[in-house]
Formats: sequence, C-alpha cells, structure tokens
Amino acid sequence: MANEDKRKPSFLRFALSFKSYGIALGLILAAIPFATSGLDLLPSYKSSRSILTFFASLVSLLGVALLFAIRRRIGNSVFPPGRRVLSKKEMSRRRWWGVIYPSILIAVSVISLIVYLWTLNKSVDRAAQKFAYDATGTSLYKLLETSDVGKARLFRLNEEVIGRARTVIRNKQEVRLRSVDFQSEEGVELVLGLTPSVDIPFHWPIEISYVFMFLGAALAFVWFGIIEYLQGELGLEDRQLLEDPYRVAPDRVFTVEKIYDLDPGPAPLFFTLSFSPDEDPPRLVSGPDGPWCMMHKNLLVFSGSGSEKDTYVWACIGTRGKQRVTLHTVTLAYNEVGIKKPVEAAVRRELESTSKQIRGERS
Ligand SMILES: [Zn+2]
Repeated sequence: MANEDKRKPSFLRFALSFKSYGIALGLILAAIPFATSGLDLLPSYKSSRSILTFFASLVSLLGVALLFAIRRRIGNSVFPPGRRVLSKKEMSRRRWWGVIYPSILIAVSVISLIVYLWTLNKSVDRAAQKFAYDATGTSLYKLLETSDVGKARLFRLNEEVIGRARTVIRNKQEVRLRSVDFQSEEGVELVLGLTPSVDIPFHWPIEISYVFMFLGAALAFVWFGIIEYLQGELGLEDRQLLEDPYRVAPDRVFTVEKIYDLDPGPAPLFFTLSFSPDEDPPRLVSGPDGPWCMMHKNLLVFSGSGSEKDTYVWACIGTRGKQRVTLHTVTLAYNEVGIKKPVEAAVRRELESTSKQIRGERS
C-alpha cells in the first residue's frame, strides 16, 4: 500500500494528505472562488463583485501553486533531515518557516479584512453623495459645497439621505468634510447595488484589500497543510516529535593557546562552537566561529599583513553612532588560511573533553 502511494505523483499524494488535515485539497481549491464571492457574508458592490471574485480566486490559486513549488524549502527548514539538535540559526529558520511566516499571512488576511470594511464604508458614503440628487437635479456633493446640511434622494428614487458638511483647516488649507446619514439599511444596499463599476470611489484599496484577505487566508491554510503533508512524507509521528523534540545545540566557548594578540596590552580573544551532546563523539553543529574580541563580542575580520614579518592584522569592527568603524586592531601570527589548522586541532580537543565530560556524567 505504501509503495503504491509512492508511485502516485507528489501533487496527488499532497492532495490526499489533506484528508487527514480535516478537509480535501480539492474542496479547498473549489471553495476559494465560492468563499471569495462570499455573497451575503461580506458586503460588496454588485457591479464589481464578479471581477473581484475572479481575481481573488486566480491570485489565490497561483499562490497555492507557488507554495507547492517551494514545499521542499519549507520541509528542509521545518524538519531539518536526520537530526534533532540544531544550531541557533537552524532553529530560528525552523521557527520562521514553521510558525512565523504562516502567522504573518493570517495577520495579512485579518488586517486586509479590516481595511476592506473601513474603505468600503468610506466608499459607500462618497458614492451616496455622488448619486443622491435634490428636486432640481443637483447632486448632494454639490449641495454640500455651500450648505452645511442637505437632503437628497438616492438615484432619484424614494430613499432619502441627509448630508452634512463642515469646513476644517488642514495644513493651512480649507478642507470641506462631507458625510451622509442613511435613513435605513436599504439606502446602503441601493448604493452597493446601483453604483456603476467605473464610478466606485476608492476602488483600488477595496480591490487590493479584498484580494489580500483571501490570498492570506488561503496561503496560511495551505502552508500549515504542507507542513502536515511533509511530516507524513518524512514518516515523522507526533509522538516521535514530542519525545525527541528539535532543540538548540549547547554552545561552547574556548580559547586557542597559539592564537593570541601580539600587540602590547593584548586584547583577549575567544572562539565558539555548538555541538550535539546526544552523539558519541559529540557532533559539531555549528562553528568553529572566531576569533571573537572578548571586549566587544565582535567577530574579528582579517585585514592584511602586519608591520613585522609573519604577523597579520585583524580588525574588530563595530558600530559607533550609526557608522560601522574599526574599533581597534589585533595582531596575530596567523592569516585567515593559516588560522584554520590550530583552530581545528583545538576543536578536536574541545569535543574530546566534552565527550569525556558526558561519559563521566552518565557513569
Ligand atoms: Zn574589540
């Protein structure tokens, strides 16, 4: 059965895995256009509803395809293969790709919903001023230029609205602020139903927030689905991940005897590495990194030959104010190539002593 499964194209296996995620992928994809038309759930202009639905569905489907194309990148970051002890960098990548990025998509969706409703409100108000006329056929917008209160009928129908206006000073300029009081919900529905698509006020923010609302939601949902799917592909069970979770490798700070500052008043230096304590001998997870300046905790940068034979200058670069500057220099007997050998020997010694320490703790 498992072999049969493997022969299916990965997209099909991906779609099938969504069943265990609570819902079939096909259903999600089919639901996007349906959800985006959200007819009664979400207020929208009738004249632009079909284009919005089409556009939101298209962009969401393309987004899902793109996510599927980068699924291995997601998998590599969330389930680094073959090990549970990770360097700090790998752990942070796991957190970003596993939780933070999809959470950002959820936030995008929620913020877009708020922006959409807010702009739609403004837009309906503005459209009502434009398409409500008094008995002489003057629009409410025009009426409010001179008077502070005005009555008009929407689209020359029976539904009446009251407009109010006042003048304020903004940036030393007079600005006329207009707003509309609707008598009932029917007035709002008239505006949403009868405003022509080309005359919708603020149509760009409305369209963009509408698309991002659905795009964010669809991508977040499928992203979490991909993580579930990849966990299944890798044969990782929740129990295994709970009993043997991903964790950060412990750090080790050490000095290398031969590597020291030759200048008078030498600056103290150190090196770092992180290791996996579960393995014997302990495996190097990250590093060795260094030499670090102990005073400023900066990584020294090789910057050329020193004044005397076989000496080399390394710079401690930090920020002063907002600029990156060389804080001081250190003279070593090694350049960036020569330094590797003594450091590697020191790393071997460090891992050996760690191994002895762990064995001592166990016995
Ligand atoms: Zn320094």
